[in-house]
Amino acid sequence: MHAHLLRLSALTALLTAPSVIHATECFVPPSTAVFGLQPEKYPPVNEIASIGMENDPDLLRVYNDIDWTKVPSSPIKPVDLSTTSYDAGTDPDCWWTSTLCTQPKVAGLNPDVTICNKPGSWGLTFDDGPTCFSPELYGFLSEQKQKATFFMLGGQVLTYPVEAKGAFDEGHDVLSHTWSHHGLTTLTNLQVVAELYYSVKVIQEVTGVSVKYFRPPYGDIDNRVRAIATQLGLTAVMWNDDTDDWKVNNNPDARTEVDAKFQAILDKASEYNAKNAGPIVLEHDNDQGPIQIYKDWYAKIKKVYPKVMSVTECLGEGGYYEPVPSDDAGATGTATTPETPTSTTSTVTVTTDSPSTTPTPNPESKAEEQKSPARKNDVGSFAAVAAGFLGLVMFYNLW
Ligand SMILES: [Zn+2]
Repeated sequence: MHAHLLRLSALTALLTAPSVIHATECFVPPSTAVFGLQPEKYPPVNEIASIGMENDPDLLRVYNDIDWTKVPSSPIKPVDLSTTSYDAGTDPDCWWTSTLCTQPKVAGLNPDVTICNKPGSWGLTFDDGPTCFSPELYGFLSEQKQKATFFMLGGQVLTYPVEAKGAFDEGHDVLSHTWSHHGLTTLTNLQVVAELYYSVKVIQEVTGVSVKYFRPPYGDIDNRVRAIATQLGLTAVMWNDDTDDWKVNNNPDARTEVDAKFQAILDKASEYNAKNAGPIVLEHDNDQGPIQIYKDWYAKIKKVYPKVMSVTECLGEGGYYEPVPSDDAGATGTATTPETPTSTTSTVTVTTDSPSTTPTPNPESKAEEQKSPARKNDVGSFAAVAAGFLGLVMFYNLW
Protein backbone atom coordinates (compact mmCIF):
# COMPACT_ATOMS: atom_id res chain seq x y z
CA MET A 1 0.00 0.00 0.00
CA HIS A 2 0.99 3.59 -0.36
CA ALA A 3 2.64 4.18 2.98
CA HIS A 4 4.12 7.47 4.09
CA LEU A 5 6.89 6.89 6.55
CA LEU A 6 8.29 9.98 8.18
CA ARG A 7 11.99 9.61 7.95
CA LEU A 8 14.98 11.81 8.67
CA SER A 9 18.25 11.47 6.85
CA ALA A 10 20.61 14.36 7.65
CA LEU A 11 20.65 14.96 11.36
CA THR A 12 23.13 12.73 13.09
CA ALA A 13 25.92 15.27 13.14
CA LEU A 14 23.75 17.69 15.07
CA LEU A 15 23.10 15.32 17.91
CA THR A 16 25.77 16.55 20.25
CA ALA A 17 23.72 17.05 23.36
CA PRO A 18 25.14 15.97 26.71
CA SER A 19 23.95 12.81 28.34
CA VAL A 20 21.16 13.28 30.78
CA ILE A 21 22.17 13.82 34.39
CA HIS A 22 20.44 11.66 36.93
CA ALA A 23 18.96 13.94 39.52
CA THR A 24 16.27 13.81 42.09
CA GLU A 25 15.47 17.48 41.88
CA CYS A 26 13.66 19.19 39.11
CA PHE A 27 15.78 21.60 37.15
CA VAL A 28 15.05 24.27 34.65
CA PRO A 29 15.17 22.76 31.18
CA PRO A 30 18.08 23.95 29.08
CA SER A 31 17.74 25.81 25.85
CA THR A 32 16.26 23.77 23.06
CA ALA A 33 18.87 25.37 20.83
CA VAL A 34 21.34 22.70 21.92
CA PHE A 35 19.50 20.35 19.57
CA GLY A 36 18.88 22.93 16.90
CA LEU A 37 15.20 22.83 17.68
CA GLN A 38 13.17 25.75 16.43
CA PRO A 39 10.05 25.97 18.59
CA GLU A 40 8.44 28.43 16.21
CA LYS A 41 8.21 25.59 13.72
CA TYR A 42 6.09 23.57 16.10
CA PRO A 43 2.56 24.04 17.39
CA PRO A 44 1.96 25.60 20.79
CA VAL A 45 2.57 23.11 23.55
CA ASN A 46 -0.61 21.44 24.82
CA GLU A 47 -2.69 22.76 21.92
CA ILE A 48 -4.11 20.76 19.03
CA ALA A 49 -1.20 20.42 16.67
CA SER A 50 -2.74 22.00 13.58
CA ILE A 51 -3.24 25.30 15.39
CA GLY A 52 -1.04 27.98 13.91
CA MET A 53 0.49 25.47 11.52
CA GLU A 54 -2.10 25.57 8.74
CA ASN A 55 0.44 26.96 6.29
CA ASP A 56 3.31 24.66 7.21
CA PRO A 57 4.30 23.15 3.83
CA ASP A 58 5.69 20.04 5.52
CA LEU A 59 2.41 19.33 7.28
CA LEU A 60 0.42 20.00 4.12
CA ARG A 61 2.66 17.71 2.09
CA VAL A 62 2.17 14.87 4.54
CA TYR A 63 -1.57 15.50 4.57
CA ASN A 64 -1.85 15.65 0.79
CA ASP A 65 0.27 12.53 0.30
CA ILE A 66 -2.21 10.44 2.24
CA ASP A 67 -4.51 8.33 0.09
CA TRP A 68 -7.77 9.50 1.62
CA THR A 69 -9.76 6.92 -0.35
CA LYS A 70 -8.30 4.40 2.09
CA VAL A 71 -9.37 6.31 5.19
CA PRO A 72 -12.83 5.37 6.50
CA SER A 73 -15.19 8.26 7.03
CA SER A 74 -15.90 7.30 10.62
CA PRO A 75 -17.81 10.10 12.36
CA ILE A 76 -15.76 12.41 14.56
CA LYS A 77 -16.50 11.43 18.13
CA PRO A 78 -17.79 13.74 20.92
CA VAL A 79 -15.09 15.84 22.52
CA ASP A 80 -15.89 14.35 25.93
CA LEU A 81 -15.53 10.86 24.40
CA SER A 82 -19.08 10.04 25.38
CA THR A 83 -20.08 6.68 23.91
CA THR A 84 -23.79 6.89 24.63
CA SER A 85 -24.83 7.59 21.04
CA TYR A 86 -22.47 5.06 19.48
CA ASP A 87 -23.67 1.68 18.25
CA ALA A 88 -21.44 -0.50 20.34
CA GLY A 89 -23.31 -3.57 19.19
CA THR A 90 -22.04 -3.42 15.63
CA ASP A 91 -19.04 -1.23 16.47
CA PRO A 92 -18.60 -0.10 12.86
CA ASP A 93 -15.48 1.95 13.64
CA CYS A 94 -13.69 -0.52 15.93
CA TRP A 95 -13.71 2.30 18.50
CA TRP A 96 -11.64 1.25 21.50
CA THR A 97 -13.14 3.85 23.80
CA SER A 98 -16.56 2.24 23.40
CA THR A 99 -15.82 -1.45 22.95
CA LEU A 100 -12.09 -1.97 23.61
CA CYS A 101 -11.87 -3.08 19.96
CA THR A 102 -8.26 -3.49 18.80
CA GLN A 103 -8.68 -5.55 15.62
CA PRO A 104 -9.83 -3.30 12.77
CA LYS A 105 -12.55 -4.69 10.58
CA VAL A 106 -11.09 -2.89 7.57
CA ALA A 107 -8.37 -4.48 5.47
CA GLY A 108 -4.98 -2.83 5.26
CA LEU A 109 -4.93 -1.22 8.69
CA ASN A 110 -2.24 -1.94 11.24
CA PRO A 111 -3.85 -3.87 14.12
CA ASP A 112 -3.04 -2.53 17.58
CA VAL A 113 -0.32 -4.07 19.72
CA THR A 114 -2.25 -5.52 22.64
CA ILE A 115 -0.06 -7.79 24.76
CA CYS A 116 3.55 -8.55 25.65
CA ASN A 117 4.22 -11.82 23.86
CA LYS A 118 6.91 -13.13 26.17
CA PRO A 119 6.24 -15.59 29.01
CA GLY A 120 6.74 -14.06 32.45
CA SER A 121 6.89 -10.56 31.05
CA TRP A 122 5.66 -7.17 32.26
CA GLY A 123 5.60 -4.67 29.40
CA LEU A 124 6.82 -1.49 31.06
CA THR A 125 5.41 1.73 29.65
CA PHE A 126 5.45 5.30 30.93
CA ASP A 127 3.30 7.96 29.31
CA ASP A 128 3.00 11.75 29.19
CA GLY A 129 6.65 12.65 29.71
CA PRO A 130 9.33 13.60 29.53
CA THR A 131 9.32 15.91 32.51
CA CYS A 132 11.97 17.23 34.82
CA PHE A 133 11.16 14.25 37.05
CA SER A 134 11.96 11.71 34.35
CA PRO A 135 15.74 11.56 35.01
CA GLU A 136 15.03 10.20 38.48
CA LEU A 137 13.23 7.29 36.83
CA TYR A 138 15.98 6.88 34.24
CA GLY A 139 18.46 6.60 37.07
CA PHE A 140 16.47 3.91 38.83
CA LEU A 141 16.01 1.96 35.60
CA SER A 142 19.73 2.20 34.93
CA GLU A 143 20.55 0.88 38.39
CA GLN A 144 18.27 -2.08 37.74
CA LYS A 145 19.61 -2.59 34.20
CA GLN A 146 16.02 -2.22 33.13
CA LYS A 147 14.61 -0.96 29.83
CA ALA A 148 11.24 0.72 29.43
CA THR A 149 9.06 2.28 26.77
CA PHE A 150 8.28 5.96 27.01
CA PHE A 151 5.32 7.26 25.06
CA MET A 152 6.27 10.91 24.95
CA LEU A 153 4.17 13.92 24.12
CA GLY A 154 5.64 16.02 21.34
CA GLY A 155 5.15 19.18 23.34
CA GLN A 156 6.98 17.65 26.28
CA VAL A 157 9.87 16.57 24.05
CA LEU A 158 10.12 20.13 22.79
CA THR A 159 10.10 21.35 26.40
CA TYR A 160 12.45 18.71 27.81
CA PRO A 161 14.63 17.59 24.89
CA VAL A 162 17.62 16.68 27.03
CA GLU A 163 15.45 14.32 29.04
CA ALA A 164 14.03 12.76 25.87
CA LYS A 165 17.51 12.28 24.42
CA GLY A 166 18.70 10.88 27.73
CA ALA A 167 16.02 8.18 27.65
CA PHE A 168 16.95 7.34 24.08
CA ASP A 169 20.68 7.23 24.82
CA GLU A 170 20.07 4.84 27.68
CA GLY A 171 18.34 2.42 25.36
CA HIS A 172 14.73 3.02 26.27
CA ASP A 173 12.05 3.19 23.62
CA VAL A 174 11.19 6.80 22.85
CA LEU A 175 7.87 6.62 21.04
CA SER A 176 4.97 8.95 20.29
CA HIS A 177 2.01 9.83 22.47
CA THR A 178 0.84 12.51 19.99
CA TRP A 179 1.60 16.21 20.25
CA SER A 180 -0.93 17.44 22.78
CA HIS A 181 -2.82 14.55 24.37
CA HIS A 182 -6.20 15.07 22.78
CA GLY A 183 -8.54 12.19 22.01
CA LEU A 184 -7.69 11.47 18.38
CA THR A 185 -11.16 10.31 17.37
CA THR A 186 -12.49 13.73 18.40
CA LEU A 187 -10.26 15.51 15.89
CA THR A 188 -10.53 16.29 12.18
CA ASN A 189 -8.35 14.44 9.70
CA LEU A 190 -5.91 17.35 9.46
CA GLN A 191 -5.72 17.57 13.23
CA VAL A 192 -5.00 13.84 13.53
CA VAL A 193 -2.25 14.11 10.94
CA ALA A 194 -0.76 17.11 12.73
CA GLU A 195 -0.90 15.44 16.15
CA LEU A 196 1.05 12.48 14.83
CA TYR A 197 3.33 14.36 12.45
CA TYR A 198 4.73 16.93 14.88
CA SER A 199 5.29 14.39 17.62
CA VAL A 200 7.20 12.16 15.23
CA LYS A 201 9.13 15.14 13.90
CA VAL A 202 10.31 16.46 17.26
CA ILE A 203 11.43 12.97 18.31
CA GLN A 204 13.31 12.75 15.01
CA GLU A 205 15.04 16.04 15.64
CA VAL A 206 16.11 15.07 19.15
CA THR A 207 17.00 11.39 18.65
CA GLY A 208 17.66 11.11 14.93
CA VAL A 209 15.24 8.23 14.43
CA SER A 210 11.71 7.80 13.17
CA VAL A 211 9.28 5.96 15.39
CA LYS A 212 7.13 3.04 14.32
CA TYR A 213 4.75 3.08 17.25
CA PHE A 214 2.51 5.48 19.10
CA ARG A 215 0.01 5.28 21.91
CA PRO A 216 -3.27 7.15 21.44
CA PRO A 217 -4.12 9.35 24.44
CA TYR A 218 -6.85 7.73 26.56
CA GLY A 219 -6.50 4.72 24.22
CA ASP A 220 -8.89 6.62 21.98
CA ILE A 221 -8.58 5.13 18.52
CA ASP A 222 -10.90 4.00 15.74
CA ASN A 223 -10.45 2.86 12.16
CA ARG A 224 -10.24 6.39 10.78
CA VAL A 225 -7.33 7.14 13.10
CA ARG A 226 -5.76 3.72 12.43
CA ALA A 227 -5.96 4.33 8.67
CA ILE A 228 -4.19 7.68 8.99
CA ALA A 229 -1.60 6.27 11.36
CA THR A 230 -0.97 3.29 9.09
CA GLN A 231 -0.22 5.59 6.17
CA LEU A 232 2.17 7.51 8.40
CA GLY A 233 3.96 4.25 9.18
CA LEU A 234 2.65 4.11 12.74
CA THR A 235 1.08 1.29 14.75
CA ALA A 236 -0.84 1.83 17.99
CA VAL A 237 0.31 0.25 21.23
CA MET A 238 -2.46 -0.23 23.78
CA TRP A 239 -2.27 -1.61 27.30
CA ASN A 240 -3.70 -4.54 29.21
CA ASP A 241 -3.62 -3.05 32.68
CA ASP A 242 -3.88 0.54 33.86
CA THR A 243 -2.32 1.45 37.20
CA ASP A 244 -4.05 4.84 37.49
CA ASP A 245 -0.80 5.97 39.08
CA TRP A 246 -1.34 9.55 37.91
CA LYS A 247 -4.10 9.93 40.46
CA VAL A 248 -1.56 10.48 43.23
CA ASN A 249 -0.21 13.61 41.57
CA ASN A 250 -2.72 15.89 43.22
CA ASN A 251 -4.15 13.49 45.75
CA PRO A 252 -1.78 11.49 47.96
CA ASP A 253 -4.80 9.69 49.40
CA ALA A 254 -5.14 7.89 46.07
CA ARG A 255 -2.05 5.86 46.89
CA THR A 256 -4.14 3.10 48.45
CA GLU A 257 -6.24 2.79 45.31
CA VAL A 258 -3.16 2.74 43.09
CA ASP A 259 -1.45 0.13 45.24
CA ALA A 260 -4.54 -2.05 44.87
CA LYS A 261 -4.26 -1.67 41.09
CA PHE A 262 -0.66 -2.91 41.12
CA GLN A 263 -1.57 -5.81 43.40
CA ALA A 264 -4.44 -6.77 41.10
CA ILE A 265 -2.03 -7.02 38.18
CA LEU A 266 0.25 -9.25 40.21
CA ASP A 267 -2.74 -11.39 41.10
CA LYS A 268 -3.47 -11.95 37.39
CA ALA A 269 -0.12 -13.53 36.65
CA SER A 270 -1.58 -17.00 36.16
CA GLU A 271 -3.94 -15.67 33.51
CA TYR A 272 -1.04 -14.26 31.53
CA ASN A 273 1.08 -17.33 32.11
CA ALA A 274 -1.70 -19.40 30.56
CA LYS A 275 -1.28 -17.28 27.43
CA ASN A 276 2.51 -17.54 27.48
CA ALA A 277 2.45 -13.77 27.65
CA GLY A 278 2.44 -10.85 30.03
CA PRO A 279 0.61 -7.56 30.43
CA ILE A 280 1.53 -4.28 28.85
CA VAL A 281 1.11 -1.96 31.83
CA LEU A 282 0.28 1.73 31.71
CA GLU A 283 2.28 3.95 34.06
CA HIS A 284 3.40 7.59 33.95
CA ASP A 285 6.51 9.66 34.46
CA ASN A 286 4.74 12.99 34.45
CA ASP A 287 5.36 13.66 38.12
CA GLN A 288 7.29 12.33 41.08
CA GLY A 289 4.40 10.39 42.63
CA PRO A 290 3.95 7.79 39.89
CA ILE A 291 7.71 7.34 39.61
CA GLN A 292 7.98 6.64 43.33
CA ILE A 293 5.14 4.13 43.15
CA TYR A 294 6.91 2.19 40.41
CA LYS A 295 10.14 2.18 42.40
CA ASP A 296 8.25 0.91 45.44
CA TRP A 297 6.61 -1.91 43.48
CA TYR A 298 9.52 -2.94 41.28
CA ALA A 299 10.85 -5.74 43.51
CA LYS A 300 7.38 -7.24 43.95
CA ILE A 301 6.73 -7.04 40.22
CA LYS A 302 9.99 -8.86 39.46
CA LYS A 303 9.03 -11.73 41.75
CA VAL A 304 5.81 -12.37 39.84
CA TYR A 305 6.74 -11.14 36.38
CA PRO A 306 10.49 -11.78 36.22
CA LYS A 307 10.95 -10.37 32.72
CA VAL A 308 10.14 -6.68 33.00
CA MET A 309 10.83 -5.28 29.54
CA SER A 310 10.15 -2.55 27.02
CA VAL A 311 7.48 -2.91 24.34
CA THR A 312 10.05 -3.44 21.62
CA GLU A 313 11.54 -6.23 23.71
CA CYS A 314 8.01 -7.65 23.94
CA LEU A 315 7.71 -7.45 20.18
CA GLY A 316 11.21 -8.66 19.46
CA GLU A 317 11.80 -5.89 16.97
CA GLY A 318 13.03 -2.33 16.97
CA GLY A 319 10.84 0.67 17.48
CA TYR A 320 12.41 2.82 14.78
CA TYR A 321 12.89 2.84 11.04
CA GLU A 322 16.61 3.45 11.42
CA PRO A 323 19.26 1.50 13.28
CA VAL A 324 20.29 2.82 16.67
CA PRO A 325 23.88 2.99 17.96
CA SER A 326 25.12 -0.26 19.45
CA ASP A 327 28.38 0.83 21.00
CA ASP A 328 27.25 2.67 24.09
CA ALA A 329 25.00 2.33 27.10
CA GLY A 330 22.04 2.89 24.84
CA ALA A 331 22.45 -0.40 23.07
CA THR A 332 19.55 -2.72 23.62
CA GLY A 333 19.64 -4.95 20.61
CA THR A 334 16.53 -3.29 19.30
CA ALA A 335 18.17 -1.79 16.23
CA THR A 336 16.67 -2.46 12.86
CA THR A 337 17.78 -1.79 9.38
CA PRO A 338 15.90 0.84 7.40
CA GLU A 339 13.05 -0.57 5.44
CA THR A 340 13.02 -0.42 1.70
CA PRO A 341 10.81 2.33 0.35
CA THR A 342 7.64 0.91 -1.12
CA SER A 343 6.61 3.78 -3.30
CA THR A 344 7.79 7.13 -4.60
CA THR A 345 10.06 9.26 -2.47
CA SER A 346 9.58 12.97 -2.13
CA THR A 347 11.76 15.46 -0.35
CA VAL A 348 10.89 18.43 1.78
CA THR A 349 13.57 20.92 2.72
CA VAL A 350 13.14 22.81 5.97
CA THR A 351 15.30 25.85 6.55
CA THR A 352 15.45 28.56 9.16
CA ASP A 353 14.47 31.20 6.65
CA SER A 354 11.17 29.56 5.89
CA PRO A 355 8.19 31.68 6.85
CA SER A 356 7.57 31.08 10.51
CA THR A 357 4.19 30.79 12.10
CA THR A 358 2.99 32.60 15.15
CA PRO A 359 1.57 30.37 17.86
CA THR A 360 -2.05 31.23 18.48
CA PRO A 361 -3.58 30.79 21.91
CA ASN A 362 -6.33 28.23 21.88
CA PRO A 363 -9.34 29.50 23.79
CA GLU A 364 -10.98 26.11 23.99
CA SER A 365 -11.44 24.60 27.38
CA LYS A 366 -9.60 21.41 28.10
CA ALA A 367 -12.40 19.25 29.38
CA GLU A 368 -10.38 16.16 28.63
CA GLU A 369 -7.87 17.21 31.25
CA GLN A 370 -10.27 15.80 33.77
CA LYS A 371 -9.24 12.43 32.43
CA SER A 372 -5.64 13.32 31.91
CA PRO A 373 -2.75 13.17 34.30
CA ALA A 374 -1.46 16.58 35.27
CA ARG A 375 1.42 17.70 33.15
CA LYS A 376 4.13 20.25 33.58
CA ASN A 377 4.38 22.98 30.99
CA ASP A 378 6.80 25.83 31.02
CA VAL A 379 7.95 26.02 27.43
CA GLY A 380 6.67 29.54 26.89
CA SER A 381 9.84 31.44 26.15
CA PHE A 382 11.71 28.89 24.07
CA ALA A 383 10.73 30.34 20.71
CA ALA A 384 12.83 33.44 21.28
CA VAL A 385 15.78 31.37 22.45
CA ALA A 386 16.11 29.13 19.45
CA ALA A 387 14.87 31.31 16.62
CA GLY A 388 17.53 31.70 14.02
CA PHE A 389 20.13 29.81 16.02
CA LEU A 390 21.07 27.23 13.45
CA GLY A 391 20.93 27.14 9.71
CA LEU A 392 19.46 23.72 9.94
CA VAL A 393 18.59 21.98 6.75
CA MET A 394 16.84 18.70 7.05
CA PHE A 395 15.53 16.36 4.46
CA TYR A 396 12.41 14.42 5.21
CA ASN A 397 11.96 11.51 2.87
CA LEU A 398 8.32 10.66 2.65
CA TRP A 399 7.18 7.49 1.11
ZN1 LIG B 1 -1.38 9.95 28.29
